[in-house]
Amino acid sequence: MTEAIALTEPEAGNRTRTYEVKTYGCQMNVHDSERLSGLLDDAGYVRADAGDQADIVVFNTCAVRENADNRLYGNLGRLAQVKEQRPDLQIAVGGCMAQKDRDTIVKRAPWVDVVFGTHNMGSLPALLDRARHNKEAQVEILESLDVFPSTLPTTRESTHSGWVSISVGCNNTCTFCIVPALRGKEKDRRPGDILAEVEALAADGITEVTLLGQNVNSYGVEFRDRGAFAKLLRAVGAVEGIERVRFTSPHPAAFSDDVIAAMAETPAVMPQLHMPLQSGSDRILKAMRRSYRTSRFLNILDKVRDAIPHAAITTDIIVGFPGETEEDFQATMDVVSRARFSQAFTFQYSIRPGTPAATMDNQVPKEVVQERFERLVALQDEIAWDENRKLIGTDVNVLVTKTGDAEHGRMTGRAEDNRLVHVRIDPAAQDVRPGDVVSTTVTEAKPYFLIADAAYTIRRTRSGDAWDRSQADSCGATAGPAAGPAGPTSLGMPTIRTRS
Ligand code: SF4
Repeated sequence: MTEAIALTEPEAGNRTRTYEVKTYGCQMNVHDSERLSGLLDDAGYVRADAGDQADIVVFNTCAVRENADNRLYGNLGRLAQVKEQRPDLQIAVGGCMAQKDRDTIVKRAPWVDVVFGTHNMGSLPALLDRARHNKEAQVEILESLDVFPSTLPTTRESTHSGWVSISVGCNNTCTFCIVPALRGKEKDRRPGDILAEVEALAADGITEVTLLGQNVNSYGVEFRDRGAFAKLLRAVGAVEGIERVRFTSPHPAAFSDDVIAAMAETPAVMPQLHMPLQSGSDRILKAMRRSYRTSRFLNILDKVRDAIPHAAITTDIIVGFPGETEEDFQATMDVVSRARFSQAFTFQYSIRPGTPAATMDNQVPKEVVQERFERLVALQDEIAWDENRKLIGTDVNVLVTKTGDAEHGRMTGRAEDNRLVHVRIDPAAQDVRPGDVVSTTVTEAKPYFLIADAAYTIRRTRSGDAWDRSQADSCGATAGPAAGPAGPTSLGMPTIRTRS
């Protein structure tokens, strides 16, 4: 437990101390970093300007990616030199690497001030205080969740799109994955708390939400409702003001027909599915301890496409899992050919210490993995390009995420099926704000994005208005009533702020 101490003011001399949060890894970590920023804002710190050396540097780490520890210790080494010049600099390490390596971090990098785990992000401000006060490193790692992270203050990075956690942890035991060891068993958030957060986001002008969990479609396992995820999709889709609902990631083993029906029948649920395949070989799926087989995976895709013909389906694939033969790899190539993914995130298997696969004795040589990886990427690029070319001449509604500039001449956003679209800016047209929606026609296709150089119409949205308010706020002008921070934190109703 965090020891109670008199809190010191987060000040350095006469000025407020600044912070920077550096994020590695998945969307879960990106959203966790929004919470870390919210906590630090709430504690009175301010975010450092880009390029300035912050007084507090927080690393939100990932243990999944290759060389995660080399990268972390490399970054910490660079900061050691800064700390020699500026002894009041505080360095905190959180996230999955911290959960995994805990005491090792302060042994290898004794200039680190705070180490905190994935279950106790809320302790960060208190640990920084305590480290300053006691003049010694504070390491606090909990083995299970302290408080559901979504109850913590959150400083959102976007005025149009928001992540919403529905569960944390995972009950599966995939042999390549460190997540269950670091994030624990699945904990589901109550539906009422999730809806309250979505409503609060909508009230702030957010029009797109992505429901987040390691395994979203097993949502409800904790309170024994097998239909909970489908019900949740319908309920979130019915929240006034929410126009786009997405989710990531579902597990093929738990993917049920009621979820497909909810996707097809809820207009706000977007025609898109990201579902990890990992391997197209049933033998390798078994070794990975993934409990579905490729026939089931392809069957789900058929059902989704029957119900939602224009759905874009994306996936994750690991190449070179221990024991993968050329025949196994060919099975993956076959499934990829049949599945016609609009995009695949392909990874070369590499040993992750602490996972069961790390000690399997039939590791595939690096050069073999590399060669297979290149063949897979070439095949998938060809398919994605082919699928994208089919969209030339079709109409798209693009939620603008970057308004671009005269130099590049294009703004960028996401179609309803989540494809990236670059839209030519018409200098004579009204200005478009991030969060507005432009309707246009696809004129060109590339493997990873679409181009729309046609005329467009603009729909000004509440998200665009929220962007205007955030700009007015950052200029110190008076903003409308909905622009200020939301009320105090309460269960499921985080304090929401957005950054411009
Ligand atoms: S489903 Fe498998 S890969 Fe996904 S978080 Fe759980 S254990 Fe990891």
